[in-house]
Amino acid sequence: MKKVIIIGGGISGLTAGIVLQKSGFETHIYEKNPIAGGELTGWKREGIYIDNCIDWLTNSKADDSEMYALWKDIGMLGDGVKLLPKNRFFSYTADGKTVSFWRDLEKTRSEMLAISPEDKENIEKFYNAVKAAEVFTVPANKPMDKFGLKELIKFWPFLKGMGAVQKAYKGMSLKDLADSFKSPVLGKAFTMLHPENTQAFSFIVSYATITSGSGDIPEGGSLAAAMRICDRYKELGGTLHTNSPVKKIVIAGSRASGILLEDGNEINADYVITATDANHCFTKLLPAEYMPEKMRAVFDDKEHYTTFSKYHALFIIDGKVGIPADTNYWKCDGPLIGHNKLDSIGLLCYDYDPSTYPAEDKTLVQVKVIQYLEDCLDWIELAKKDKAAYDARRKDYADKLMAEIVKRYPEAEGKIRLIDTWTPATYALHCNSFNGSYMSFVADKNSKTVTTPGVIKQLKNVFIAGQWNMGSGGLPPAAVQGKFAAWRICKAEGVTCK
Ligand SMILES: Cc1cc2nc3c(=O)[nH]c(=O)nc-3n(C[C@H](O)[C@H](O)[C@H](O)COP(=O)(O)OP(=O)(O)OC[C@H]3O[C@@H](n4cnc5c(N)ncnc54)[C@H](O)[C@@H]3O)c2cc1C
Repeated sequence: MKKVIIIGGGISGLTAGIVLQKSGFETHIYEKNPIAGGELTGWKREGIYIDNCIDWLTNSKADDSEMYALWKDIGMLGDGVKLLPKNRFFSYTADGKTVSFWRDLEKTRSEMLAISPEDKENIEKFYNAVKAAEVFTVPANKPMDKFGLKELIKFWPFLKGMGAVQKAYKGMSLKDLADSFKSPVLGKAFTMLHPENTQAFSFIVSYATITSGSGDIPEGGSLAAAMRICDRYKELGGTLHTNSPVKKIVIAGSRASGILLEDGNEINADYVITATDANHCFTKLLPAEYMPEKMRAVFDDKEHYTTFSKYHALFIIDGKVGIPADTNYWKCDGPLIGHNKLDSIGLLCYDYDPSTYPAEDKTLVQVKVIQYLEDCLDWIELAKKDKAAYDARRKDYADKLMAEIVKRYPEAEGKIRLIDTWTPATYALHCNSFNGSYMSFVADKNSKTVTTPGVIKQLKNVFIAGQWNMGSGGLPPAAVQGKFAAWRICKAEGVTCK
């Protein structure tokens, strides 16, 4: 039985492990942290569960898509996992008006038209694009660079549909989309979730996931999902080594002989999959010059490809103070958070999943503030150099944001308390994430999102998994890239990839 070492126990590494175990390999995952899951995680403070990741899960709908089959295979979904319907993507309130992106697209359209009839043409264009993008799915059986005629025919409706949407919003950022609306409230709503330089196309695809009913959330949230996937891996006979940071991949000519752990132990294997952050892989685990050229081009092109992250604070409120479940943004004359004075605040209210905190007389809310590169780097430097100053900044921002919540929901006065804060440094320090980013690169409006085949020219038996291989990242790309790394090993060994 051929032995495969997988570096990194995030969803990508776990998926690679599950597929390879099913396909008859012996696998070992080496994960630096005490638990696997990577950025797909959650934790408890004062007995309160804090969910870090899943706002929506693309391809959550039980259908015959390859991605749904993969979710079932790895234990993300299926087998009695209850889905919490995502009835609303989010809402934005300003100047007495509320724009909501409902699961019911017709409702969104009619509310938008009521807010701004003079934007009819633009609203109809948006509506049609979202409808067309509902065909979106993530091919998950075979790497796209290995597609033959059969796969091209199968995915033709998807490729055609997405091509048309892409064309309709070609060369447009979220900021351009916002500016194209006459109503400032309608326009501004589009810039809430993601950085303004994000392609307008990506908002449409994300929202279409919700309107097609395929962006629901598994009950129990991110940690429960990560644990289900871990259990699936172990049930299939995989060995998960936690608290086991890998120092480097040991190279012997055009092959890797195995890995060297930080504790000095060397472990041999027939194949190695790197499922860590790509920057970490090609600055620590492998020589920089081994990074595939296509990926290097993106890392080097700082003008067109950026990264972002978020500052988060979680609060508990005694009682219910009128905050709707899910995510609501409102316009504000807000505080300075990092280098940006906030003009809106977003609040995620956990009432949508009572299983994570079953206290009927409390409200859990999470603030998420976009942090651009400059802020991300500041957080990481501060966390490394001066923990006390880092903690003080986390608390200072939380206090300011708490004051804004009370301004908006005066009933929360005296009843709201900070539970925890986390920052881009959290991801950088815990997951070795590049610039503290938990997604991959944001391609600007003049660029393409890039997918890199997970192969390393110089090494025949090392494959790259992880979200940084594919587009703008996220759970589906991370999982499929794990599967694709496994697929390449199966192919090399002439066995069926299961
Ligand atoms: C706040 C937040 C919200 C999000 N919302 C969504 C969402 O709604 N939908 C969605 O699809 N995605 C979402 N994501 C993104 C999603 O979490 C990531 O895309 C995905 O988890 C990345 O998986 P990965 O396996 O590629 O990387 P990671 O999760 O980073 O896994 C890499 C693993 O490698 C380990 N590692 C690193 N270096 C070493 C080493 N030297 N030795 C051993 N182990 C090592 C790390 O500890 C980590 O466990 C969100 C993420 C965050 C943080």
